Order: sequence, then C-alpha cells, then structure tokens
Amino acid sequence: MTVRTRFAPSPTGMLHIGGARTALFAWLYARHHGGQFVLRIEDTDRERSTDEATEVILDGLKWLGLDWDGEPVFQAARQAEHVVAVDQLIEEGHAYRCYCSKVELDEMREAQRAAGKKPMYDGRCRHRSDRPAGAPFVVRFRSPDEGETIVNDLVLGNVSFPNAELDDLILLRTDGTPTYNLAVVADDAAMGITHVVRGSDHLNNTPRQIQLYQALGLPVPQFAHIPLIHGPDGAKMSKRHGAVAITEYREKGYLPHAVNNYLARLGWSHGDEEVFSREQLIALFDLTQVGKGAARFDQQKLDWLNGHY
Ligand code: GLU
Repeated sequence: MTVRTRFAPSPTGMLHIGGARTALFAWLYARHHGGQFVLRIEDTDRERSTDEATEVILDGLKWLGLDWDGEPVFQAARQAEHVVAVDQLIEEGHAYRCYCSKVELDEMREAQRAAGKKPMYDGRCRHRSDRPAGAPFVVRFRSPDEGETIVNDLVLGNVSFPNAELDDLILLRTDGTPTYNLAVVADDAAMGITHVVRGSDHLNNTPRQIQLYQALGLPVPQFAHIPLIHGPDGAKMSKRHGAVAITEYREKGYLPHAVNNYLARLGWSHGDEEVFSREQLIALFDLTQVGKGAARFDQQKLDWLNGHY
C-alpha cells in the first residue's frame, strides 16, 4: 500500500503555526514512507474563503519546502460528487430527509433540557409519514443508536465514542450544500488518502466520519490527531505568544529549515539531537513518537535553532 496523506486547509486566513506543523507532519509521514502528499483546499465556506488566502497558504508551504504531489483539489468544485454520496446513503437506508422546522427543533431541545437530558436530535423524521409536500428539508445520517465507535489513532491510541451520544448528523443543508463531515469523507476516499493527519481539534468528528465510511462501503483510513500547540503559559497559542502566521517568520528573516526543525520538535521528539537536516527529519520521523499532550511554544528555542544554520 502506498501511503498517501493530505493537508486540507480552509482558505479563510493565513497559514498559522499549528496548520504548518500539521502539514509538516503529514508531509514527513508521506515522504518517510516513500508515499504521496496531496493538498485539498476546503473552500466550501463561500463567504469566508478567498483566493488570496489560498495563495498565502500555498506560498507558506512552498517557503517551508513542503512540496505536494499533483495539483491541489478544490473542495467546492466537488459538490456534485458529494451529493452522489448522499443519494447513495439515502437509497441504501443510511440517510433520510428531515423536515423539522426550527421551531420544532427548538421545542425538542427545550423539552430535553427540561428533562435533564443533553439536547440532541431525536431521530423523529426517520419514521415520519406526515411530510409536508414541497417543504424544505435537510438530509440526515441514520447514526447507529447502540454500541460504540472506536477511533484507532496512531498518536492517541484507541479512543471510544458511545454511539448513543452521536445524534443524526446533517449531511446536506436545506440549500442542498454538503456539510463538512460528508465532504471530507467523500473527498478523502476519492483522493485515495490512507492516513488522515490533522489537529486534535477534529477528533470529535472522527467517529462520525468512520460511520460514514462504513455506511458508504469505503475503506476507513488510519487517523493521527496531533495535539494542539499552546503558548508558554499553557493557553492556546495566540498572537501574544509570538508570530502566529508562518509568513511573519519569513519577513523577520528566519530560515525556513530552522522553522521546520522547530515545528517538528513541537510534539515530536527523537533522542537528544537538536538539529536535523531535511533528509534526517524524513528518515527519522514517526507518528508513533508524537506526544499525546499539547506542545509548548518556545520562542528562545526557535531563535537558538535559527542561529544554527
Ligand atoms: N479544513 C479543516 C481545517 O482547516 C481540516 C479538515 C481535516 O483535516 O479533516 O480545520
């Protein structure tokens, strides 16, 4: 099996430190295994996505030397394929049209809250026969009610999610546009992705995505969720901890390979060595050595590395 990883940024802003490190880990894993690394621009949020942001992200990846195979895939252009996947799910009984109005959904959640339950869609449209003709609908996934879905993660190990806590996910909105989880599964499958390497902020989506792969009869890829980067004070990395956009490091005169070495050490460790060549990084990198806890950003370390080139 040829390893094929991807980086799937949303072009709604700059390439930040966390995104660049995710891209680096996916790239290193592919290159270590003699595989491929591909790009998918997740531009489905038409209001917030811009061509300029896509350029900035590609520019940042080029500066870091993270070369990708083939042409980037633009997710919004694949909407017809996403709808085909939803049609298949409906046909095979894994998805259904839901006509619940906002008022009805609000009442449902209110009643659940009043009964001390977690508000979630109760699946009432699975069996409804009083469907108003011509009324707007969403398409929902018929999520399994019992059992559990286990994410066998290369970094985090086995993470189990009780199915009863996952309600029937919306796949298509009332305007017919696909939602994130459906689009990602359809695209990762179509692009032949074998290893999904991404930030751990996506871990909660993964049981949903595994269920979709299974319902669509598609092979489930391996997952690797990379813990987030925190500032030295333990809070989520932000502007006050230093530069957050990769391009700011270029402007400040940092060397791309020093930044790569630094990003690699944010979460990954290999012995006591501090400075690696590009070839050494590729030869040594292994996802199973990525730590389970959040990495701490350390400006002095980056500066020290930068002085070594
Ligand atoms: N587009 C998503 C993001 O930028 C990533 C999706 C994924 O990696 O599955 O957060």
